[in-house]
Amino acid sequence: MPGKLLFTNWGHKGTRTFWFCNTFPTFRFAGFCISKPLSPNILPNISTPATAPYFAPALLEWYPRHRRDLPWRHTQDPYAIWLSEVILQQTRVKQGLPYYLDFITTYPTVHDLAAAPEDEVLRHWQGLGYYSRARNMHHTAQQVVREYDGKFPDTYTELLKLRGVGQYTAAAIASFAFGEKVAVLDGNVYRVLARVFGITADIAAPASRKQFQTLADALIPAAAPAEFNQAIMEFGAIQCTPVKPDCLFCPLQQHCFAFQHGMVQELPVKSKAKASRTRYFHYLVLRHGETVYLKKRGPKDIWQGLYDFALTETDAAELPPMALLDAVESLGGQLATDRAAEPVQALRHVLSHQKVEAKFHPVWLRQPLAQPALQAAGLAAFTATEAHDLPKPILIANYIDTIWK
Ligand code: SF4
Repeated sequence: MPGKLLFTNWGHKGTRTFWFCNTFPTFRFAGFCISKPLSPNILPNISTPATAPYFAPALLEWYPRHRRDLPWRHTQDPYAIWLSEVILQQTRVKQGLPYYLDFITTYPTVHDLAAAPEDEVLRHWQGLGYYSRARNMHHTAQQVVREYDGKFPDTYTELLKLRGVGQYTAAAIASFAFGEKVAVLDGNVYRVLARVFGITADIAAPASRKQFQTLADALIPAAAPAEFNQAIMEFGAIQCTPVKPDCLFCPLQQHCFAFQHGMVQELPVKSKAKASRTRYFHYLVLRHGETVYLKKRGPKDIWQGLYDFALTETDAAELPPMALLDAVESLGGQLATDRAAEPVQALRHVLSHQKVEAKFHPVWLRQPLAQPALQAAGLAAFTATEAHDLPKPILIANYIDTIWK
């Protein structure tokens, strides 16, 4: 992108003067001119961190007037902060809030969460998706109790040793709970920095992280690291939004490279995620009397540890009737002949890298399934109430809600 720029204007900021000419800026220091090629992913920004004393004060002035009142902002308890951050990595604030309130009420301390059965934790997490995150959260709680006597580590470096705690979460806890000067980087922060400082590095590329982290670390003030981190994330969430940022009333407008150069919609640069594949799930909803059969999903696929029905996965949206019959007979089951056929329901679920097109085939059995067949298929018998209380992918929960409403 820099190679296409044809700036011929002068820009003044602090003690430096930049002269943009084609793709080479000329830096003038004390009468000397030094020309050098642009970095491949930093545009000739008039506003670099070293000359951006306006940045932190503008955000810190903006934040108290615009921030949303959220429960995790009233605490310095690292457990509560950690809970909120894990949930907010999954969903937006509005959707995440009831989950946070549910978790903090059900498990007020890390000891409570650590002692809870995994199925119960997954059930509370149900609907947030990415269930490995819930399992990691549960394991982390147990690790904190076991290895840290129930007290979260109080430094960024130590926090990184916890399972499932990455750089973002460690920075958030370290700064919000312990006041450590370490900058957070989330999607909102990437966007604000890319726009204000004209950074064209691909924010989806892992290699870009260091560049953004160095910049954010240079900007964060030692006197207010927690407020700064909160402010920049909130600013990205409600002012410098992805699609329609409020540039007109933005306190950074005059310094913002993207605004000044008409590149708000181009920044940040983010390469497209790889195309998602479609999977076709055919669920056999096996029932006999008051009993319904479900199984716990194993590792190495989506929804580990959650419950769904007997599954046949195919390459096509349709399941031939004979295949359905074969699947039932392979479980040792026989179709009941005295019940009218029920309609097949189709539901779709979109995950980050795959789409699931699911069809639910109600199957009434003539007799209960025998124990050896259940064991071989990993199925277990449940009542409707029990099935309702199991942790399930939201797709299954939605289906069950429709048939047992
Ligand atoms: S001027 Fe617009 S693009 Fe720039 S920081 Fe403000 S809201 Fe974001």
